[in-house]
Amino acid sequence: MSELRIGAHVDQTDPIAEAAARNAPLVQFFLGNPQSYKGPVLAYDGGPAALRAAAEAAGVDLYVHAPYLINVATTNNRQRIPSRKLLQQHMDAAAELGAKGLIVHGGHVTDDDDPAKGFDNWRKAIEATDIKVPLLIENTAGGTNAMTRYLERIKGTWDAIASAEGADMVGFCLDTCHAHAGGNALETIVEDIRAITGRIDLVHANDSRDAFDSGADRHANFGAGQIDPDLLAQVVRDAGAPVVCETPGGAAEHAADFAWLRERL
Ligand SMILES: [Zn+2]
Repeated sequence: MSELRIGAHVDQTDPIAEAAARNAPLVQFFLGNPQSYKGPVLAYDGGPAALRAAAEAAGVDLYVHAPYLINVATTNNRQRIPSRKLLQQHMDAAAELGAKGLIVHGGHVTDDDDPAKGFDNWRKAIEATDIKVPLLIENTAGGTNAMTRYLERIKGTWDAIASAEGADMVGFCLDTCHAHAGGNALETIVEDIRAITGRIDLVHANDSRDAFDSGADRHANFGAGQIDPDLLAQVVRDAGAPVVCETPGGAAEHAADFAWLRERL
């Protein structure tokens, strides 16, 4: 049996109740619509102070997932500028409710762009952001010219942000579905990532409905997808970081996923 802390991505209305329903020591949730440029909205009754107090009382760690459409790497000003603003807004909101981390996707540049521009935009975004809780950059499954799909790009991004003020508050979130569907060998992904970033702060443990290197981002419950069960468990075990299951379903399905995972750790 492992002492790894395992939780899930849950509905944002009452994350503490969701944690209790799963007997989970941590939960992740969105603040508002993840597909919108509108600023963060906290659905919890009583506001951020009440959520923070309830989380502390329950011993539940909170993680906030930033909106999907944040793309601080892009060369398109009309996306990059609002992305930076949205990132800061979510950072402020995450800090207010005492979150342990804010998760954001690596983003991408367009097909014609030199990826180096995206790396440098990441550096500028880190410089420009007042980082109050750990900012965890997540690997992505697809996207042409993505910043965090392949290892070489993750390295480029990391090398660029290393010189930025605040880089010590930037960590890594490893998503198993994205790594598999993105075309990275799960056999070595933990050591490959650590060689680049020096750290893995959080694992998004998900099976994948799609094949290796398909570029598709469709999560599946454990054992229902195309990732070898032993390999999935190995990644979670070797990473040794808190685990968020972003698998389909509600409390019952998540409890089954937790049990599936614990059996193999
Ligand atoms: Zn994820």
